[in-house]
Amino acid sequence: MKYDYDLFVIGGGSGGVRAGRLVAGLGKRVGIAEEYRYGGTCVIRGCVPKKLFVYASSFAEHFEDAAGFGWTVGKTSFDWSTLIANKDREIARLEGLYRKGLENARAETFDTRAIVDGPHEVRLLADNRVVTAEKIVVAVGGTPNRQPELPGHELCITSDEIFNLTELPDSMVIAGGGYVAVEFAGVMAGLGVETTIVYRGPEILRHFDMDLRQHLHQEMEKKGVRVICNEVFEKVEKSGASLNVTLSGGEVLTVDQVMLAIGRKPLTENLGMSKVGIELDWSGHIVVDEYSRTNIKSIWALGDVTSRVPLTPVAIHEAMCFIETEFKNNPTAPDHEIIATAVFSQPELGTVGMTEEEATEKVENLHIFKAVFRPMKHTLSGRDEKMMMKIIVDSANNKVIGTHILGPDAGEMAQIVAIPIKMGASKEDFDRTMAIHPTAAEELVTMYQPTYRVVDCKRVD
Ligand code: NDP
Repeated sequence: MKYDYDLFVIGGGSGGVRAGRLVAGLGKRVGIAEEYRYGGTCVIRGCVPKKLFVYASSFAEHFEDAAGFGWTVGKTSFDWSTLIANKDREIARLEGLYRKGLENARAETFDTRAIVDGPHEVRLLADNRVVTAEKIVVAVGGTPNRQPELPGHELCITSDEIFNLTELPDSMVIAGGGYVAVEFAGVMAGLGVETTIVYRGPEILRHFDMDLRQHLHQEMEKKGVRVICNEVFEKVEKSGASLNVTLSGGEVLTVDQVMLAIGRKPLTENLGMSKVGIELDWSGHIVVDEYSRTNIKSIWALGDVTSRVPLTPVAIHEAMCFIETEFKNNPTAPDHEIIATAVFSQPELGTVGMTEEEATEKVENLHIFKAVFRPMKHTLSGRDEKMMMKIIVDSANNKVIGTHILGPDAGEMAQIVAIPIKMGASKEDFDRTMAIHPTAAEELVTMYQPTYRVVDCKRVD
């Protein structure tokens, strides 16, 4: 045989494992190398442990809310080390499943850093051995931006470290206004940490619908998170056991921990990209065509190492499309249109399709349906928290082009409502769908009159 493997995958995260496991399942000879832990960012230090932390942090409110329903909750306390140990056990279990899935499919797993050494060559650094493969997939993902230009950046943690802090800090400041910053602000505040978030723009969560961004900002402040916009960190310095963070506006915050959540970078350094001539973009992401193929015809790239949509299900989908195209003779380009997403903020945000701002730019006439209401649970809990739902309709054809939800279970609702939106449902389809009562989601099918219209970029009430 000409090559050692039919496929060699570099990177054992969501995209790489899916590609390796399914191709091996087709009876092909597959090798896969991972330098850290199988499962990748999502499983080991991303989505999965984060969601467990979100659950942990929400108990404080559940205990408070119970009183309105007649419960007396005794003295409560929280033990960080128990949470970490239980989370570690679950992550180890999942990592084992990922590894087992590969081995059951007869893929050969390597626990080593691997780099591209030629169009068909991969160097395994543990024993400096070169293996050959007909096809190579690079799925090495990304790593947090540690902002080396920030004075004192070495004193800061990122999402890589926060999952394994030995102690829960009393106070924390987080830089960034994206998914990670907003989610961890909620987690930390829920666990009783005095939390501040510092974002460089005018409002957190750029790219999301402005109404929801503002609403979330207010709700986070009600939960005790201090949200500072239009500022950045100037420097971070040690001050005894604490850290002093100087902001661009001059204020100095003294805290126990400082976290940088200012985006991620692709892990393409020292990966053999220039040796083999693989094209990278300005930000170091691998450039691929619509079928995930790099400019080298035997090499593909999947997931966050490319500059597409950095979400786990997208990486998995890209892997499935790669398999269809290359191993099933069925050319299939990944579909990156209308991707539902959730931010596990507190309250949660779920969204699919265009924001009002995006739709205003692209569509002449819009009908906007908006509801702000108190979730039923809070009628008795007494909690001052409102839910928001918003539907964006193109009035030319009555198609629902965006739905945005902020409140309990927003992610779950966004996942379901993504199906009709992806199918091209009209507002009439929503209207003739019977409500389930009493739910919050029924609001999505009972908003009969537009709250306002947008005509040629102008709001008309
Ligand atoms: P994001 O891209 O979501 O957010 C980065 C934030 O950092 C933005 O607010 C950005 O501002 C800000 N920023 C960027 N550079 C600087 C800088 N030099 N100084 C100050 N602020 C800066 O990245 P995250 O790290 O939060 O998450 C990475 C990716 O992981 C996400 O994009 C998402 O795709 C994925 N993810 C998904 C989750 C989910 O599905 N629930 C959860 C967590 C992560 P600006 O907006 O102005 O550019």
